[in-house]
Amino acid sequence: MMDLKIIGSASSGNGYILDNGNEALMIECGMAWKSVQKCVDFNVSRIQGAIISHEHGDHAKHAEKAQKSCVPVYASHGTIERIGLSGFNVHEMVAFQKYVIGNFTVMPFDVQHDAAEPFGFLIHHPETGLVLFATDTYYLKYTFPELNNIMLECNYRQDILDANVANGIVNPAQRNRTMKSHMSLDTCIETLMANDLADVNNLVLIHLSNTNSDAEYFRQAITSATGIIPKIARPGMIIPFCKDVF
Ligand SMILES: [Zn+2]
Repeated sequence: MMDLKIIGSASSGNGYILDNGNEALMIECGMAWKSVQKCVDFNVSRIQGAIISHEHGDHAKHAEKAQKSCVPVYASHGTIERIGLSGFNVHEMVAFQKYVIGNFTVMPFDVQHDAAEPFGFLIHHPETGLVLFATDTYYLKYTFPELNNIMLECNYRQDILDANVANGIVNPAQRNRTMKSHMSLDTCIETLMANDLADVNNLVLIHLSNTNSDAEYFRQAITSATGIIPKIARPGMIIPFCKDVF
């Protein structure tokens, strides 16, 4: 059975692994390699590939380590160029093409972030069904049918961000950057409501801001809007990611 294992989900580092004990897919390379090894019981050879959304350090800092550990790395041309990866085990992805990685099929799509060529991913595996992964994007211009599991950024709440600017905790430039690069709670709700959630088994809110979010409030707001109780991503969390409820 496939589990989603969360190694990290914050601006300090992002790393997720879908792992059924036989094969695994790494999502993001922002966490120390040791924590990745531990996550797959030190059996790195079962990681079929690593997909990276964009070049920022909290998502890509350890990409070269993955590559050198014989894990094929997949990202857009722009992301690979900015990370400075080249040579063996590096695969450039093109939006809306499908990539077969073990029994996983991954289709990247463009997202809205201050990076060279950032991607979100639709991931399919026979055990998980369709998984949506989208982080570091201030909105999603696409909707997706028949999702079974969702990992979506829910970074900040506007009034908390504004109050932090007023209190001098966040500077105005940071505020503007956040609003043009990360997803607010309101946009997260709008994004979810634009999709068909009938077959969704897991909704995981990822990449909450340390200063501009309120996990408990987010949980309640998303629950009342969608009828699905979301999980808030935390390091060390393991969530069964199945196609069906039972
Ligand atoms: Zn970023």
